[in-house]
Amino acid sequence: MTKLRLAIVGAGPAGIYAADILLKAERKFDVSIDLFDHLPAPYGLVRYGVAPDHPRIKGIITALRDVLDRGDIRIFGNVRFGEDITLDDLKKHYNAVIFATGAIKDADLDIPGIDAVGSYGAADFVSWYDGHPDFPREWPLDAASVAVVGVGNVALDVARVLAKHAEDLLVTEIPANVQAGLEASPITDVHVFGRRGPAQVKFTPLELRELGELRDVDMVVYDEDFDYDEASKAAIASNKQVMVIDRVLQSWRQRPSVNNAGGEASRRLHLHFYAKPVEVKTDDTGRASAIVYERTKPDGEGGVVGTGELREVPVQQVYRAVGYFGSPLKGVPFDKRHGVIPNHEGQVLHKDSNERVPGVYATGWIKRGPVGLIGHTKSDAMETVRHLINDQGSWWTPEDPSEAAIPALLAERGVAWTDLDGWHRLDEHEIALGAAADRARIKVVDRDEMVRVSRGE
Ligand SMILES: Cc1cc2nc3c(=O)[nH]c(=O)nc-3n(C[C@H](O)[C@H](O)[C@H](O)COP(=O)(O)OP(=O)(O)OC[C@H]3O[C@@H](n4cnc5c(N)ncnc54)[C@H](O)[C@@H]3O)c2cc1C
Repeated sequence: MTKLRLAIVGAGPAGIYAADILLKAERKFDVSIDLFDHLPAPYGLVRYGVAPDHPRIKGIITALRDVLDRGDIRIFGNVRFGEDITLDDLKKHYNAVIFATGAIKDADLDIPGIDAVGSYGAADFVSWYDGHPDFPREWPLDAASVAVVGVGNVALDVARVLAKHAEDLLVTEIPANVQAGLEASPITDVHVFGRRGPAQVKFTPLELRELGELRDVDMVVYDEDFDYDEASKAAIASNKQVMVIDRVLQSWRQRPSVNNAGGEASRRLHLHFYAKPVEVKTDDTGRASAIVYERTKPDGEGGVVGTGELREVPVQQVYRAVGYFGSPLKGVPFDKRHGVIPNHEGQVLHKDSNERVPGVYATGWIKRGPVGLIGHTKSDAMETVRHLINDQGSWWTPEDPSEAAIPALLAERGVAWTDLDGWHRLDEHEIALGAAADRARIKVVDRDEMVRVSRGE
């Protein structure tokens, strides 16, 4: 029986699901899988993207861990593709590779002043509050009033974490530095801006509803945003999700205490619709001082057009949550416009000719762009794996497919890789840190410390 030696790069949900699906799939060959990640901990954005106060979603980790704990997938953590291991190495030791490297960077927002001091990408902030080891430990939470640009779930996560009182985050796994930063925050007002109307937002009802439950935070919505056009009315009538979103927002309009004036909470979260940010204004020191937005109006077809009316809201920080963006991988085709690996249903294509690149596959956010929930990465992985199985004739023929070759290569290069046992050690260590403080877990943030704990050093 032929054997498929497969490398998967990226131990987020997409990579883990792909491994699991392949191992369970009907096929006429044996499989052995090595899963690489540049972080010493697996689970990608489930660990480093999903907000700490969403323990139910974080719970997906349990299902992913069950897959790894079966023990039929080898893990090489703390190994960066492109530096510690290259495409040539993979060709030498495997029959094929699946890239599942996701996305961690912010998409750009091209407006004047966006580079001001105090203007940040949401992805960086998320990485900070989720304790990603490769981001600065300190975050200057020194603004009373902040703007969040975008109306997707990430924008709501960022707005919620900024507006929430730090003590209400303590039940979660936030690291100590994040707790200290949030506790010291002088924030009073978070303004979320979306250029379209309430019937065209991208966030989901659950995430929206949660905002209304924040302790000592008034929700502020503006009556002028609810003068719906026919397209919006049709969207509300025909789409259950939009209907619920509208219902939640309408209920906030009715709350006398939070309707724009007279609120009693010490913090406010404002939702501005039909508001297209056009500039970040700065003070003499180059620090953000206000966000300027153009009021838009419905175009009758579900879109919006500018009205030319400019308005200004004083803010000292701006967070742009306008999407994530994938990063190129050395030697692998990359579509710079969309931030993905060019592919047809997961089969990687040459950038210009659109011809297949044999042996190379993609799945997850790096395959189809940074949209969709964790569950989507499963169907995505199924499609990629189906092609991988059917493409048996075009796999690489490795020079040395032995399982001993990779540990030897990493050792020769001085790479301090971590394995499944190491992850268990780090996991237990974090749980023990949490137990001492009466919390479920406290994450270790420092990469060296993560590696030391994992390797039992
Ligand atoms: C802020 C935020 C909140 C979210 N909240 C939710 C939610 O509540 N519910 C939900 O269902 N979905 C949520 N999502 C979406 C969910 O996280 C994604 O759908 C999912 O994580 C995508 O999976 P992936 O495996 O493609 O990518 P990722 O999860 O990003 O995993 C990619 C992995 O590849 C590794 N990697 C990258 N480059 C390299 C390299 N060069 N070498 C080796 N390894 C590398 C990374 O370290 C990472 O572990 C959220 C996303 C974000 C950004």
